[in-house]
Amino acid sequence: MTDCIFCKIINGEIPSAKVFENEHVVAFLDISQVTKGHTLVIPKVHKENLYEMDAETARSYFESVPEIARAIKAEFDPIGMNLINNNGEQAGQTVFHFHSHLIPRYGEGDGLG
Ligand code: 5GP
Ligand code: ZN
Repeated sequence: MTDCIFCKIINGEIPSAKVFENEHVVAFLDISQVTKGHTLVIPKVHKENLYEMDAETARSYFESVPEIARAIKAEFDPIGMNLINNNGEQAGQTVFHFHSHLIPRYGEGDGLG
């Protein structure tokens, strides 16, 4: 999709700090770090949100998530991690290419309560 910033990250038009990449997904640091290591995981095919995901895209996407979470855990050493996905403006979605947030948690000091 030509106007999608995440498609531009996939094809290299917009730079990103990649954490993980395989045939199906890319994971990169969120430009606005909620906590240290806050990462976005996106499928390489453009799907607007969860409702648009087909089973095969969902399978290959979610198959990759545990490995990405382990890589973030190994690099940033958090004590917990949130996996969050927003669908639709009312749910807080601002970029309309399906993505999940992996948000490492560091206890009281991470400011998230
Ligand atoms: P949403 O609110 O749609 O769930 O999350 C979109 C996320 O994309 C936001 O947390 C925002 O900081 C991040 N984001 C928006 N534009 C860029 C960008 O160009 N590069 C990176 N790395 N993250 C971005
Ligand atoms: Zn896209």
